[in-house]
Amino acid sequence: MQSDRIPRGLREAGGLLLDLIFPRRCPVCHEAAMPPYHICPACRARLPFIGTARCGKCGKPVPGTDRLCDDCRTRQHAFDRGLGLLLYDETMRSTMSYLKYRGRKEYGEALGELLAEYTADLAALWRPSVIVPVPLHPKKMNTRTYNQAAEIARPLARAFGIPMAETMLRRSSETLAMKNLDAVERFRNLEGAFEPGPGFVPARSVLLVDDIYTTGATMDAASLTLREAGIREIYFLTVCIGGGFMVQY
Ligand SMILES: [Zn+2]
Ligand SMILES: [Zn+2]
Repeated sequence: MQSDRIPRGLREAGGLLLDLIFPRRCPVCHEAAMPPYHICPACRARLPFIGTARCGKCGKPVPGTDRLCDDCRTRQHAFDRGLGLLLYDETMRSTMSYLKYRGRKEYGEALGELLAEYTADLAALWRPSVIVPVPLHPKKMNTRTYNQAAEIARPLARAFGIPMAETMLRRSSETLAMKNLDAVERFRNLEGAFEPGPGFVPARSVLLVDDIYTTGATMDAASLTLREAGIREIYFLTVCIGGGFMVQY
């Protein structure tokens, strides 16, 4: 039976029942995590939060009292400001691979809720009009069946009371697998990789959401498309942020 034929109330009740029979798993240790915790308290306590100062532009950790990271000092970004909550360490690398490649869709919700909890003050400051998950290429969407960025963005939209515009952007061309490319190649690969999607809304400001911020290439390409389409303020939030500085010019 197709799930869209099942009445919504029944589906929700079914979801609760499923939660009891097959409890959702903690995205860190993969053990059952009982409500109200989606990340079990022990794992939460050892999440790689960033304890140092952050770059005022991209949120990467910076040494001492530096206001901007090396990357943002040498390069103009297309977004206004953004932040990734956790360091992309071994633990988070594993969590993200379960979310992206091993079908653990519910990890997106747990991580989105965590992100919302720690960034409510930023959301209140930025006051974005809409939340836009960075889209996947349609081919990837077919094999993966869900976009992890949208799974993370949904609880943020709910927590902040801001509408989500899921199809405001779309991928415009086939891109190579990013994993094997260096930073400069990533930029070339992504240039023009986004275009306004069918759900484009002429919002004043947009909050982009993705799983990881590394070189900023994806965020810049998405932001550039939004800028060219007339969006004046662009912010981003990601669950993880790479600590290294990979872009050199
Ligand atoms: Zn756990
Ligand atoms: Zn920076």
